[in-house]
Amino acid sequence: MKHVILGAGPAGVIAAETLRKHAPRDEILLIGAEREPPYSRMAIPYLLSGQIGESGTYLRKRADHFQRLNIQVRQQRAKRLDAAARRLTLDDDSLLDFDTLLIATGSSPVRPPIPGLDLPGVHACWTLEDARAIERLATKGARVLQMGAGFIGCIIMEALALRGVQLTVVEMGDRMVPRMMGPTAGGMIKRWVESKGVTVYTGTRVEAIDSGTPLKVRLSNGQHLSVDLVISATGVKPNIAFLENSGVTCLQGVLTDEHMRTNVPGIYAAGDCAEALDLVTGRPIVSAIQPNAADQAYVAAMNMAGKPAVLKGVTQINVLDTLGLISTSFGLWQGVPGGEGVELTDEAQWKHLSLQFEADRLVGCNTIGWTEHVGVLRGLVEGRVRLGAWKDRLLREPTRLMEAYLACAQAQHQWQAARLKAAA
Ligand SMILES: Cc1cc2nc3c(=O)[nH]c(=O)nc-3n(C[C@H](O)[C@H](O)[C@H](O)COP(=O)(O)OP(=O)(O)OC[C@H]3O[C@@H](n4cnc5c(N)ncnc54)[C@H](O)[C@@H]3O)c2cc1C
Repeated sequence: MKHVILGAGPAGVIAAETLRKHAPRDEILLIGAEREPPYSRMAIPYLLSGQIGESGTYLRKRADHFQRLNIQVRQQRAKRLDAAARRLTLDDDSLLDFDTLLIATGSSPVRPPIPGLDLPGVHACWTLEDARAIERLATKGARVLQMGAGFIGCIIMEALALRGVQLTVVEMGDRMVPRMMGPTAGGMIKRWVESKGVTVYTGTRVEAIDSGTPLKVRLSNGQHLSVDLVISATGVKPNIAFLENSGVTCLQGVLTDEHMRTNVPGIYAAGDCAEALDLVTGRPIVSAIQPNAADQAYVAAMNMAGKPAVLKGVTQINVLDTLGLISTSFGLWQGVPGGEGVELTDEAQWKHLSLQFEADRLVGCNTIGWTEHVGVLRGLVEGRVRLGAWKDRLLREPTRLMEAYLACAQAQHQWQAARLKAAA
């Protein structure tokens, strides 16, 4: 059997290694489009803050790691897939046949239509190449403008602050992390970041960037800023353009079932490019975080090796450290129509808790400063735990989360275990 894995990020690497373990004699080819050893984008902030060197971002430390596992690694980009013929066309027009294929091509930064986005001194923060450019320009005291205060934007901010730059953040949403946090939480994060010396403009767009040294940036609030570096962190989209007319069904990402199979037998997808079932809503979503990529890759590879495996689903989980303020967002944090919710906020202590219920289940939440309850919140949301009378208690006293978890989740687990035992 010949297995081709497109994409040499965390999903591709985990899939290749899982396949090698469970299909020891098969041919495995791992193809990545970047001129680097397989690396982790997640490690880029640590590189920028000087905590690690470039080799610290590599997913596997030994240079001969893949060779020792008899996994061929190639640097090429797929530009077309003919699913019926089971054939890829690569960027040098060579053709590549396969028995099974894993699409693990990740995602790429979106490019908002802003004049000047192509100028030198304007960079995304997505690849090692981007990181090298940022390292050159984000020197101590440099004026840096960051577009976007989403999940990735907030992570980058920490690294930039540690480099000692003068940072301005421009976010077009009405608050920070608007796709992860409600207004109270987003507002608290903004105030926290400002208290650390960062200038933040929410509800504001970058309208144009003019060339020169320094660059001149025009904002929608009428301000003109002179900066040495612009970082664009305005969201990402799955790398699926090469699948157009391929026969593989894509929505926002490559649509997969619980085995990470696409609609075409023998073709699988995993990671940031894949759309998998959300545990809370039961609908497919792209949840572009590394733990999801790892879980999906493992399940896909097991099935590619002929060993049935099922993904229990993905959750929208984000745990964020913004200059030392820890916030979390799980599931349907915005709440659901007809649902109930409760918020508890202590601005002075930088604490906030928002719980959202559908019937007697916790379907989503936002927290700031509640690090001790992260596991409990995740367990309640992902486990779709029926809270019964505890739902009303939590609406009155939301901090009794641990008690609710112990009373309901454990009882549910025991009941499920007893059912399984009886059925065996
Ligand atoms: C700065 C930063 C910080 C982050 N921090 C976190 C964090 O704290 N927690 C977290 O969970 N996630 C974080 N992420 C997100 C995380 O990095 C991604 O979820 C993860 O990389 C997804 O893995 P993947 O293998 O699906 O995709 P990727 O890592 O994007 O890998 C995709 C691979 O596909 C290759 N490729 C693309 N197109 C083609 C093609 N046509 N042909 C061949 N190869 C192709 C690419 O070269 C790459 O090798 C962060 C990301 C960034 C940029």
